[in-house]
Amino acid sequence: MSANTGETATIPALTREIQLASRPHGRPVPANFRLTETNLPELQDGQVLVRNLYISVDPYMRGRMNDVKSYSAPFKLDEAMEGGAVGEVIASRSSERTVGDTVVHALGWRGYAVLDAAATSPVNTDLAPASAFLGALGMTGLTAYAGLLKVAEFKSGEVVFVSGAAGAVGSLVGQIAKAKGASRVIGSAGSAEKVARLLELGFDAAFDYHDGPVAEQLAGAAGERGIDVYFDNVGGEHLEAALGTLTVGGRVAMCGAISQYNSTEPTPAPRNLMQAIGKQLTLKGFLVGGYWQHMAEYVGTMSGWLDDGTVRYDETVVDGLDNAPQAFMDLLDGANTGKMLVRI
Ligand code: NAP
Repeated sequence: MSANTGETATIPALTREIQLASRPHGRPVPANFRLTETNLPELQDGQVLVRNLYISVDPYMRGRMNDVKSYSAPFKLDEAMEGGAVGEVIASRSSERTVGDTVVHALGWRGYAVLDAAATSPVNTDLAPASAFLGALGMTGLTAYAGLLKVAEFKSGEVVFVSGAAGAVGSLVGQIAKAKGASRVIGSAGSAEKVARLLELGFDAAFDYHDGPVAEQLAGAAGERGIDVYFDNVGGEHLEAALGTLTVGGRVAMCGAISQYNSTEPTPAPRNLMQAIGKQLTLKGFLVGGYWQHMAEYVGTMSGWLDDGTVRYDETVVDGLDNAPQAFMDLLDGANTGKMLVRI
């Protein structure tokens, strides 16, 4: 190994990684994953070796476990799964990255990654701890920011409802809406503890969607005024409830539909979709990848909000790569508050 390897870096020959062993039918089970050890490829010119510190655990990975054509290619059977990670460069054959740099990249689900330096993005850990660049200062946060401000075109004074509100994206959506002058922010989540946390974070109202029909609970929280923006992380019953509560000219940012990710049969559309006509609603789906050009602006704004306490973020950290499959299954079951991460 050549230039920039540093004096003291221990260069491993092997890495542990989580492979996709089989494709789930419905809910993922432990047998769908395999922990194995493989040789690390030799570093080529222009490449870096990264020791992963944290890997990101995200709902969209459930879709990549299926063998279906989608916006993100399926994981391949018997190969390492992929996903966001943040780590430290421990060897470099690139002039763009130096040993000791902290970078984010897309080769998660493993202890070490060899990849092109150009496929890594350096992050400034003076702004926040490395893990934050997978959450509040990373893809997750940009999803919340772009979805609320660019997709739903939220304006000061409006009423916002967000589902999955105690999760990584949702908790930021609510707080960004407050920071930008929302007159009322309503969140839904899956437990009494999560509802209490939302109120601590500054949400004006929150409810546990297990406590009764979402439409009734949302109508109670929104009152006569209704909602102007619905940030949808969940789909299904939540989307139907929001359509019934949106005001004329209301907007929906369609971010995710986690209530349907494990479905084995097509799920019915909201039965009240027709309301979109009379209320002149806009329902707009989006992928964060289409808003990457706003990342620098976003990190600047969000790091200021984190600094002055306007926004707070939660993390649920699971230790050890061998526990990553369980962390992923637990994420789909709602075990996380804020961003679900695995510390390697
Ligand atoms: P997250 O919200 O931190 O974690 C997932 C949460 O979903 C769980 O904690 C659970 O919380 C909730 N959940 C699970 N099953 C549910 C159900 N049947 N009904 C209602 N809630 C359920 O995950 P995230 O990373 O922030 O992602 C949130 C959503 O954004 C996901 O739909 C994800 O796919 C989407 N997303 C989209 C983009 C994009 O580019 N469009 C980018 C990132 C994320 P409870 O305890 O509250 O049930």
